[in-house]
Amino acid sequence: MSFATRVKEDLNRVLTSKACCRSAEFIAFFLLKGHIRIEKGRQLSLFMQTEHAASIRKMFTLAKDFSLTREIAVHRRTRLNKNQVFTLTVPPQPQLAVFLRELSLLDAYGQWQLGFPQRLRGDILDSPCCRRAYLRGAFLACGSLSEPENAYHLEFGSLDRDQADLLVELMAEYDLNAKIVRRKDREIVYLKGAEEISRLLNIMGSHRSLLEFESLRVTKEIRNQANRQRNCDTANVNKVVKAGWRQVQDINYIADNIGLEVLPRNLRVAAELRLEYPDYSLADLSEVSALGRSALNHRLRRLSQIARNIEDFGPKQWNREEDG
Ligand SMILES: [Zn+2]
Repeated sequence: MSFATRVKEDLNRVLTSKACCRSAEFIAFFLLKGHIRIEKGRQLSLFMQTEHAASIRKMFTLAKDFSLTREIAVHRRTRLNKNQVFTLTVPPQPQLAVFLRELSLLDAYGQWQLGFPQRLRGDILDSPCCRRAYLRGAFLACGSLSEPENAYHLEFGSLDRDQADLLVELMAEYDLNAKIVRRKDREIVYLKGAEEISRLLNIMGSHRSLLEFESLRVTKEIRNQANRQRNCDTANVNKVVKAGWRQVQDINYIADNIGLEVLPRNLRVAAELRLEYPDYSLADLSEVSALGRSALNHRLRRLSQIARNIEDFGPKQWNREEDG
């Protein structure tokens, strides 16, 4: 089961007793996931469909508050993934007009009001308890969430502009910085970052998945830190090994052209030490030789300088001092 599904299972268990919030949650689900159908004889019915059985069961329960007669059905998709889908239908009935008028989708004369009901927008934004319920219903309707192990991305998909704006405004009430992006003529509202997603889960009341999310997040953070440390260590080791081998090349070059025996004794000791331990760091060389790090560093640099002198001026001029 994906993490997004577990969040939905969790949200479906949240059943508030406040009538205002129950209706806000149902309305969110209906506006974002439902359709109005015009049946024969110009009668209206409502229709909602989802792959989450628990969501449909919850909406069935919430719709009771509106005294709507409703039916649940299950069938298997014939195309695509052939998953089971669950539908909630509210067949034509006088009470339906009351419900739609309450949403301002029908006016007092039974005329259609196009677009997102503006009055509803104000009601939900002004009521802190219903804001949470609306976000919960919206997530159940069209929310998705990437696996926390992979990425921190939460989105509400396939919205019209007014619906998207309302979700952004609702989240802004909690200082969540949701953004809108257009995909195939529909708007997507998304939230990025572990911190913001974690807060939204809390706001919607998904406490069990919030705990799971936090624990996955900590595991991931520890793993990332370990990786960073390992990469950093590897980079340092590479640097040490490269420096060591460059010095070995220089020393061999000196040995081939003038011989190590012509070098002053302190340089010869450093050269032989390096040839013996090509991949040691300065600190390691210092430890095996009981020579100071800065003395060793100075001698190895001097050896490289001698190799450059031989290259540039010939074997006789190897003992030139560094310029400056
Ligand atoms: Zn409320």
